[in-house]
Formats: sequence, structure tokens, C-alpha cells
Amino acid sequence: MRQPLIAGNWKMNGSSQSISELLDGVISGLESKAEVLVCPPAIYIQQVRDILRGTGVKWGLQNVAAETKGAYTGETSPLMAKDLGCEYAIIGHSERRTLYKETDQDVAAKFCCLVDQGITPVLCVGESLEERQRGDTMKVVAAQIDCVIEKAGIERLSDFVIAYEPVWAIGTGLTATPEQAQEVHAAIRGLLSRTSEEVAQKTRILYGGSMKAANAAELVAQPDVDGGLIGGASLVAEDFKAICHAAG
Ligand code: PEP
Repeated sequence: MRQPLIAGNWKMNGSSQSISELLDGVISGLESKAEVLVCPPAIYIQQVRDILRGTGVKWGLQNVAAETKGAYTGETSPLMAKDLGCEYAIIGHSERRTLYKETDQDVAAKFCCLVDQGITPVLCVGESLEERQRGDTMKVVAAQIDCVIEKAGIERLSDFVIAYEPVWAIGTGLTATPEQAQEVHAAIRGLLSRTSEEVAQKTRILYGGSMKAANAAELVAQPDVDGGLIGGASLVAEDFKAICHAAG
């Protein structure tokens, strides 16, 4: 049985004041069977840790370096993330792939570095609208995942999360229908089972793309949807909590 995971990606939003208020709101009255994770901007990780320690809500990074230390100006090391109690890090978000030209190989290198430091990668994959309209959704998603599997090898696949995020649904208000999400999630699980049935069955596959309280329950009710990666709605405590509650 896979425990649902609801993860908030705050992107480059917040201030020390607003983050305290947001987290106070999230913690108060939160009752969910889902694992709950927030990913603030890296500069606020220590503040978030100090607020969340002992609450059961976890914290992680939105992006990470593929190296643990050295001359990489401006980067955030997985080793440092571990030092500050991060259990997860998002990698391969479509904004990183598009705006910062991250390749599948870059993402695969980050994946390996995270796993080697004991941090669980949340690997984002997804197709653009053009790719979906061309009928290439699974071709794109499979290439993104295969590159990671190839570099990581089976021994590094024991603990990771995939977030299926159709690019056309991120921040647009357009959500994949539960049927569209289930179709891709089931295909991703099928893809994983080619490497290992055990990995396929235990890996959580989240949906991301304009998930909100109003559509979370029916998305998470799909057999292969194991939670959500939430952007905009994770910045409003009541909305984020409502999604956590909808997940169980
Ligand atoms: C995201 O950026 O990962 C995301 C899912 O954003 P939103 O929920 O705002 O579409």
C-alpha cells in the first residue's frame, strides 16, 4: 500500500514573515493520512525546519546541485540539505528544464547525487501541449524516466518519487482530467515494471498541474495517482490543507 504524498512547491515566493504565517496555518488542524511535504526557497530551509521539527510535516528542496561540495557558485548541495533535515528534493521541474535548460542527463546526475546522500528525489516529468497534441506524451515521459534509470541503475531505485506534471497544466488553471492523469500514471508504472515489478509497485507517482481542493479528491482516487505536487495552492494554508485532507 503506497502512502499518498502531498508536496507543496512554493517556487520563488514568500518572506520570513509570510512563511511563518503560512506554516502556522498549515500545521494547525492538519489531519491527513498523507505524508505532507513543503519545498520552500532554499534560503528559508533553516527557518522552515525550526518551525516544522516535531510536527510530522516534512521539508525539502525545489532543486539541488549534482555535486556535494566545491567550486559551484550559487548552488545548493544535497549534503547541506541533509544537514538541515531535508528528506526530499524536487528535480527536473519543467521550469528548470525550460528556463535553465536542464537536460535529462543533468536531472539524472542530480538524481544519483541525491540518492547517494540519502535524500529522496521527486523526479518531475511531463509533456508540453504541443507534444500531447502530436500524440507524443509517453514518448517524452519515457525518455525523461529512462535516462534516469539508465544512469542510476537498479540499485539506486529503491526510494524515489515521480511527479507527472503536464507542462500545459502548470500554473494555467487547466488540470488533466482524472482519466488523462490515470492513463499516463498507469503507463509510467508499466514503464517502471520493465525494470522491476517491485520498484513499479512501491514508487509513488504524484500528479501536478493546477491541483486544488476542488479537484484533488477525484485525482487522488485514481488507482495510480499517489498524491500531488502543488504549486499555487500550496501558498494558501487553507487550500493546501484541504488538498491534504482530500488525499485521506
Ligand atoms: C508546479 O509548479 O509544480 C505546479 C504543479 O504548479 P501549479 O499547482 O500552480 O499548477
